[in-house]
Amino acid sequence: MDEKLKKIADFLREYLDIYGDTIFVNEMRIKQTALQFSASTAEESEMVEASSRVERIFRAEDKPDTALWQFMHQIKDCTKCSLGHTRNKFVFGDGYEQADILFIGEAPGADEDRTGIPFIGRAGQLLNKLLAHIKVDRKDVFIANILKCRPPNNRDPLPAEVKECLPYLHKQIELIQPKVIVSLGRIAAQNLLNTTAALKQMRERLWEYQGVTMIVTYHPAAILRNMGLLNSAIEDFKFIHKTFLEVSQRQK
Ligand code: URA
Repeated sequence: MDEKLKKIADFLREYLDIYGDTIFVNEMRIKQTALQFSASTAEESEMVEASSRVERIFRAEDKPDTALWQFMHQIKDCTKCSLGHTRNKFVFGDGYEQADILFIGEAPGADEDRTGIPFIGRAGQLLNKLLAHIKVDRKDVFIANILKCRPPNNRDPLPAEVKECLPYLHKQIELIQPKVIVSLGRIAAQNLLNTTAALKQMRERLWEYQGVTMIVTYHPAAILRNMGLLNSAIEDFKFIHKTFLEVSQRQK
């Protein structure tokens, strides 16, 4: 096979493995194309539009009456910092309340602010695929963020916001009791480890946070911006899995 074709085939094989049959392209164009090609009548066109509007929304009232979700009810109307006045939804975090692995991102983005669900947008879909790669289902982990509310225009969290919000995360760690914490991206890691170190200095080694083994890896959004990071991210996820097995063995 021609060398270029071989490269394309390798890339597509890897893409399929990580993203499955989700193809990340411009959403608006897909919608327009879908409307153009699949809707021959006005009625069909409305159906296509309606189906693209269906999305999952976090429903606090659906959560069981346990200590973790009781804690959510206690803090979900927080206005300790100004983000409490600009947010649409408070993003407490979601997943299994006794999860062995806790993922910590930076702060909710637009999709999370609209739905109340952490990592629900494109970065979240990639996170799901990386989890699937190590045979872990998203519903078996817990996913939270340093900040519970979206900073305007997705700017970096301010120190004062982190100072107010971090105690909530500490309480979540206390209640969930994960075996391993995974920090997603430089900003989350710098805030957790109280450092200005670069991501490459924090990856590929073990840290401890609140008495729990912690690993730092790329933010999935960074991988989406630079697919060249994908292979290293896969290696990080294998390291996360290996560490989780070792910690579980030690704690038996
Ligand atoms: N990025 C984050 O850091 N957190 C989210 O919940 C979504 C995107």
